[in-house]
Amino acid sequence: MEKINKGKNIRLSKSCISHQEKEAVQLVLDREYLGMGQEVQRFEELLSDFFSRSVICVSSGTAALQLAIVGAGIKPGDEVLVPSLTYLASFQAISACGAIPIACDINEHNFQICLEDASTRISKKTQAIMPVHYSGGTGDLNQIYNFAKINNLIVIEDAAHAFGTKFENKLIGSMGDVTCFSFDGIKNITSGEGGCIVTDNKKIIDYISDARLLGVERDSMKRYQESRSWEFDVKHQGWRYHMSNIMAAIGIVQLGRFSEFSDQRQLLARKYNSAFKDLDTLKLLPWDYTQVVPHIYPIQIKGLRDRDGLQKILKSKNIQTGFHYQPNHLLSFYQQSKSIYLKNTENIFPELLSLPLHPDLTTEDVDYVAKTLIEYLPDFLF
Ligand SMILES: *Cc1c(COP(=O)(O)O)cnc(C)c1O
Repeated sequence: MEKINKGKNIRLSKSCISHQEKEAVQLVLDREYLGMGQEVQRFEELLSDFFSRSVICVSSGTAALQLAIVGAGIKPGDEVLVPSLTYLASFQAISACGAIPIACDINEHNFQICLEDASTRISKKTQAIMPVHYSGGTGDLNQIYNFAKINNLIVIEDAAHAFGTKFENKLIGSMGDVTCFSFDGIKNITSGEGGCIVTDNKKIIDYISDARLLGVERDSMKRYQESRSWEFDVKHQGWRYHMSNIMAAIGIVQLGRFSEFSDQRQLLARKYNSAFKDLDTLKLLPWDYTQVVPHIYPIQIKGLRDRDGLQKILKSKNIQTGFHYQPNHLLSFYQQSKSIYLKNTENIFPELLSLPLHPDLTTEDVDYVAKTLIEYLPDFLF
């Protein structure tokens, strides 16, 4: 196929909003009940059906992680194992609880937390492990849960990238200890901002259900009826991390469109894979795109000399790119008392490039991106 673009700006990622989301928001605005109420309850019910588990919706994926950590009983000073190659939110959610994120290396073949490395970082204070389902795929979750069991850790899955992904034919979020999703603007589904916690641990659900609303005891049921508790007790710290009806209205529509989104994301990722299959310089993630719903499409470019230059030339060809992520263990705030070296993370990071991926792209767009990259790549290698 020839390279065609016609000046269309190809964004790295974006929200995909139809008239349905706009109408749903309009209805909430017309009803003039914008806070947490019946739309939030409905969205939670639909998500519960989707995962066959209890779901609590909150204001962001970061809030979901923070509440999951506190709800799981992690205390200030406790340590949580987490891969360094993740969005800053994973680290901030841990430190927001007063807990200490312990940065771990990644496996070079799938960019997921390396358990061998993690095992060297366990101490008496380690209470949890937070695997991050980077790009939408997962490592071997059986191994992660075995590791957690042996070391007596709770698993809090950062599944912000992995809405809809399956592991061994089971939906992420339908099994395991606690799973957190993000519905921010560019994730696999969005509610504007937003997130949710999925678990079958009733203690955690009850705790989070109150904690997201300032810790007011059993206020959620009242809010769903669009009322509130006037007299109440509070037994622990809470936050204003609830979801609004406006957000939930968007999320409900997006959940209904999810199979359309996931089909397109999988199709586009397969298209990239086949365009790149003969290039030895490119390391592709090993996902089976019948199981994995990709949130981003990162590649490792072996021997990449000048990422900035490559990104600039692609930009001039209407292609926006990015890189996920700057390793967190190198940030001033998270440099531990002794500085650590994470070999795979530090070797891979400078060679990472994320290519455009969102459901509004066509296979022709992906073809154009792949061909343009292949054309200019040699100028940017050592
Ligand atoms: C998006 C994201 C989060 C946080 O979600 P927000 O809804 O943006 O707060 C957490 N972890 C990862 C890996 C993410 O990509």
